[in-house]
Amino acid sequence: MNIGFIGTGYMGRPMARRLLEAGHDLTVYDVVKNAAQDLLDKGAKWVDMPKAVGESCPVVITMLPGPPEVEETVYGANGLMAGWKNGDIYIDMSTSLPSTIRRVANDAKPKGVSVLDAPVSGGVDGAEAGTLAIMVGGESSTFEKVRGDILEHIGNKINYMGDIGCGSIAKICNNLIALACGNINNEAFVLGVKAGIDPKKLREAVLASSGSNRNLENWPRNVFRGNFEPGFKLNLALKDCRLALTLSREYGVPVPLAATVEQRLLDAAAAGLGEKLYTSTILRLEELTGVKIRVPDL
Ligand code: NAD
Repeated sequence: MNIGFIGTGYMGRPMARRLLEAGHDLTVYDVVKNAAQDLLDKGAKWVDMPKAVGESCPVVITMLPGPPEVEETVYGANGLMAGWKNGDIYIDMSTSLPSTIRRVANDAKPKGVSVLDAPVSGGVDGAEAGTLAIMVGGESSTFEKVRGDILEHIGNKINYMGDIGCGSIAKICNNLIALACGNINNEAFVLGVKAGIDPKKLREAVLASSGSNRNLENWPRNVFRGNFEPGFKLNLALKDCRLALTLSREYGVPVPLAATVEQRLLDAAAAGLGEKLYTSTILRLEELTGVKIRVPDL
């Protein structure tokens, strides 16, 4: 199958590579051509605009930062909408708003284009290994068409969530939990270490207890080593937190913890950490308290 892939950044690149390795032909586009170089070296074809991806590929995947970039890619002057044909399938795998993909699905329908939202979780490692969790929204018949040939090469924990937009809702809720966990880990560890206990022992105790969470499992690779290179950029985490706040306003659901997490991320972004790993929020607490949570030998 000739698959179009738009957005070949930290996540899109390894996801697209897995599709190439599964034997699909790949046509790629990114606003930064260099971001796709690795894929072009492996045999992917480059085109200069989303419209050309839509014209040449029956299935198009996007892996873009968020709602504005998805809108630009679909509705822009040389966007997908101008290239789509009857029978095409569009899968947006970005973390985005349900309202955005619902609008796209509605506008694509008269052209005979089926749309899914299928955001992922599991980070760059999961993308490399094809072990991402995928949360899918859209018509189940469209989902079944792409499940085996496409989605199962990208992820191995695939949850069908319901109508179009439901994948995005699930992903926003998941990331709200994950970001709150990450930031409470920071507070608890800075508190614990300032109060006199060893961070390695604290992590072992928490992982064996009711506070255990995946963010903390990953600390030996980032916080403990002082390694804050992305992976998942803090600016994207801030975007995700704001997606949760947007949803909360739309549905009238108070989410005060989300507002606090947003301020934590905003504080770190204001300090110049936006392009660093999302866990770099801990640097701000460390600076404030004079405590450093480092266990480099773990
Ligand atoms: P990234 O910034 O590394 O990649 C985004 C890519 O999109 C870049 O190469 C950029 O040049 C390109 N791009 C931006 N605007 C564009 C446009 N208008 N047209 C074409 N290309 C454009 O981000 P990422 O980490 O790969 O994340 C992509 C999406 O996946 C985001 O929605 C993010 O929230 C989500 N996500 C990321 C992770 C992670 O660990 N990095 C995990 C799960 C989900």
